[in-house]
Amino acid sequence: MHRQRCTRIIATLGPSSSDVEIIKKLSDAGADVFRINMSHGSHPEIASIHAAIRDVESITGRSIGILADLQGPKLRVGVFSEGKAELVRGDEFTLDMDSKAGDKTRVCLPHPEIFQAAERGTDLLLDDGKIRLNIKKVEDKKIITEVTVGGIISNRKGVNVPNVILPLAALTEKDKKDLTFVLELGVDWIGISFVQRPEDVQEAKDIIGHRAAVLAKLEKPAALYALDEIIAISDAVMVARGDMGVELPMEEVPAKQKKIIRHARRAGKPVVVATQMLESMISSPVPTRAEVSDVANAVFDGTDAIMLSAESAAGKYPVEAVSFMDRIARKVEQEPSYRKAQSKEETRLEPTSADALSAAAKQVATTLNASVIVTYTTSGSTALRAARERPKTPLLVLTPNQNTARRLSLVWGLNSVHTKDATNFQDMIDKACQICVKYNFAKQRDRIVITAGMPFGSPGKTNVLRIARIQKYHVE
Ligand code: PGA
Ligand code: MN
Repeated sequence: MHRQRCTRIIATLGPSSSDVEIIKKLSDAGADVFRINMSHGSHPEIASIHAAIRDVESITGRSIGILADLQGPKLRVGVFSEGKAELVRGDEFTLDMDSKAGDKTRVCLPHPEIFQAAERGTDLLLDDGKIRLNIKKVEDKKIITEVTVGGIISNRKGVNVPNVILPLAALTEKDKKDLTFVLELGVDWIGISFVQRPEDVQEAKDIIGHRAAVLAKLEKPAALYALDEIIAISDAVMVARGDMGVELPMEEVPAKQKKIIRHARRAGKPVVVATQMLESMISSPVPTRAEVSDVANAVFDGTDAIMLSAESAAGKYPVEAVSFMDRIARKVEQEPSYRKAQSKEETRLEPTSADALSAAAKQVATTLNASVIVTYTTSGSTALRAARERPKTPLLVLTPNQNTARRLSLVWGLNSVHTKDATNFQDMIDKACQICVKYNFAKQRDRIVITAGMPFGSPGKTNVLRIARIQKYHVE
């Protein structure tokens, strides 16, 4: 139940990992959250993966977060009469609205929004940036370009338009249908792809309400211009390095990763580092040294979670990939320099009782060498503030709300137990002590630190800090 690791692991599920048996193995190996990529899979397939995850949750007794990642407005070209075409450097190539199959001179681009926003001189990137077109002329329903980096382009390849804010809604019609479906299933997090503006996140939140938490994927340069506003309005953010490395020169991605983590941590919002972390493990049982270093550095940066995509969804070694992430993260977290870096981060306290008590709990727990800090929370917001303090002492969250426990599985250091609310002050102490013993957070005579909100039973502000000692009767 208690992970010996604070950084969380997200494993994407797919063809390599869709039944109960393998999902249980991934969970045992260290996966805390499972991601369902809505770009792939039919609704019945997604429903069956969802059910399998919930089965594993009831077998293991550990709350599992499910992240449904919406495809978003991913732009794609149409089809080619021969399935593909070779674009040659220096040649002219036209994108238009004609649905006729394309060739080496033109192809359909079925996104009217681009035609409005396109400007002479801007670059269009095809197929993850492998092919580059420079816009020479924009007509009513035609963009005439020059091929500046050539190559072979095939049917329905992706198109990126860096540095242009497209008048695109963050949620496509497909996303809206997918969203209704996954909210009905009961997922915990919704990933919003290609967020450009804070309004994009707001639009999703207006539909989702309190049914799930919202994770904004940062992959467009435009999102980075409004970074703090987007962090403020989102429940979590992702450094989506795949598309970001196409939209921006790749060498800018590492610094953006550090900046996003710093800003998210300051705001107390969980942050995820994603894409190609152990890419070679799609086909190899061991990662490259560079990949190990990349995962380790994301942990050193202070991220809440690290993510596997194709490695766990479609690769040959999904369980090994999770195990490797687990080993790397645990190793880094044992380094004194990791702890030092975490506590050095500037996390200015806000004048709220949650921040005052979270900081106090950390200090009291250190002074008394307490075994654990126990946080009673309904919505999870106090637990987020406690995690933001990055205490050395393990954190145990007690919540009467199963959804809160599931959502918090994405957050650095939080171990959640779903339990009834305390009924009175003594019950608050006894329940905390008993659960600490049951889940091996503390043993008899250990001291623990508890924060809670009174009066009990109604969600409200955290306003109590209590030091308790595990008594004989808690252990029996
Ligand atoms: P994707 O998002 O895998 O859904 O594209 C992650 C990324 O772009 O890095
Ligand atoms: Mn992406």
